[in-house]
Amino acid sequence: KKRLLQTLKGKENVTKDGKKINIYANIGSVDNIGAVLLNDAGGIGLFRSEFLYLENSDFPTEEQQFHAYKRVLESMAGKKVIIRTLDIGADKQVDYFGLKKEENPALGYRAIRICLTRPEIFKTQLRALFRASVYGNLGIMFPMITSVSEVEKALAMCGEVKAELKEQGITVSDSVELGIMIETPAAAIISDKLAKLVDFFSVGTNDLTQYTLACDRQNPDIEQFCDTHHEAILRLIEMSAENAHKNGAWIGICGELAADTTLTETFLRMGIDELSVSPTFVLKVRDAVRNIDLSK
Ligand code: PEP
Ligand code: MG
Repeated sequence: KKRLLQTLKGKENVTKDGKKINIYANIGSVDNIGAVLLNDAGGIGLFRSEFLYLENSDFPTEEQQFHAYKRVLESMAGKKVIIRTLDIGADKQVDYFGLKKEENPALGYRAIRICLTRPEIFKTQLRALFRASVYGNLGIMFPMITSVSEVEKALAMCGEVKAELKEQGITVSDSVELGIMIETPAAAIISDKLAKLVDFFSVGTNDLTQYTLACDRQNPDIEQFCDTHHEAILRLIEMSAENAHKNGAWIGICGELAADTTLTETFLRMGIDELSVSPTFVLKVRDAVRNIDLSK
């Protein structure tokens, strides 16, 4: 089977009746790019930028970040690269942030909440991202969004950073797409409003499942209550897809559910535009797509 999958390299992600979908890869480090290229992913749908912070003993500098982002963009040679801004907190802890111990870290001070309240950290990352934007096809996405105002604030910060860079004579690409993760029920429920503000959505099914089913993703003892195919989750994804398309945004899925080939047909029928999976699953999902006939 593995040998057979290799023959799918260079082939399109297209169903028997001609419906196409993008299959991208998720990575957590610049070192994973080899695997992305080897498995013929169409782009990077989720670059977890946390590694830059996790592997450092202090805040990574703008220069350090710029070089990492530039390297990923150049290696992907014009293919889409979606870099997610800092998603620290909850299951991803870093000492030098000096975060307080929390009773419920998953419901606590994390991700976009840190970025919006500690703008110096967020701004450094955004400067590095926009500086790198001229080296490829960049998308930037924000994690753990729950409200319109968070998105507005994040976008305003992007505007400020871009203006600042231009004033300093630094070129910034005009075609950077800005998007958000849909990984809270709140974001899915107000996805009509959110879609008007951004270019794309990416559904984070790991957190969306945790928050929708009230199931701690770190606790193996409650696995039997954590039905990843729960109708509530599928409805939230479908609703987000409809709202995205009605309001001019595209939608992908980058949580683990994206690689679940028992759902590939369901996602295609919902009109999902992109599935982003671990590099080793790209060809498996391509195979699934190519065996589906939506006209039946
Ligand atoms: C998710 O929540 O589904 C996701 C892709 O992000 P992470 O697993 O990094 O929280
Ligand atoms: Mg998440």
